[in-house]
Amino acid sequence: MSRIGVLALQGDVAEHVHMLESLGVDALGVKKADQLLEVDALILPGGESTTIAKMAVRFGLIDPIRTVIDDGLPVYGTCAGMIFLASTISDGDQPVIGALDVVVRRNAFGRQNESFEAPLDVDDLDSPFPGVFIRAPWVDKVGADVEVLATIDDHPVMVRQGRILATSFHPELTDDGRIHEMLLNLI
Ligand code: GLN
Repeated sequence: MSRIGVLALQGDVAEHVHMLESLGVDALGVKKADQLLEVDALILPGGESTTIAKMAVRFGLIDPIRTVIDDGLPVYGTCAGMIFLASTISDGDQPVIGALDVVVRRNAFGRQNESFEAPLDVDDLDSPFPGVFIRAPWVDKVGADVEVLATIDDHPVMVRQGRILATSFHPELTDDGRIHEMLLNLI
């Protein structure tokens, strides 16, 4: 049986664990670098990307996470996790993993649109996915190897680069497991 790690520094860790268990896979909250070697894939949850980044630096996790991703570990970032994976943030200089070749814009939908739900057409899925957006980023620019799997008003909100998957939205806050299954299929 696969075991999926969820980076457990801050954010909606419990919701991802719950989703994974409902899909019948083992979940492990990851707080230390050596736990990265015990998992078949890794989720970087939503939350506050500046806090997650600061704690990851403090716990010495940035380089180890980069290394396992470089070595091919499938990884999925939701919202703050997408920001943490990105190579560049449009308006800030917080620490990042930098494995996903995108420019990401934090809180991109603005104050009027802080939280909303929208049905999304996602490549690879045959019916719309319930997109839950909470102070979400969007992607301003994608590198050559990045596929855009969903957009809102032409702004990418779901991307994939090899075994790296990222969404601006929060499937773990729904009861729809199809995007988590896409991660499992990358193992
Ligand atoms: N706005 C948050 C950030 O910039 C992300 C919000 C979320 O993960 N729901 O880190």
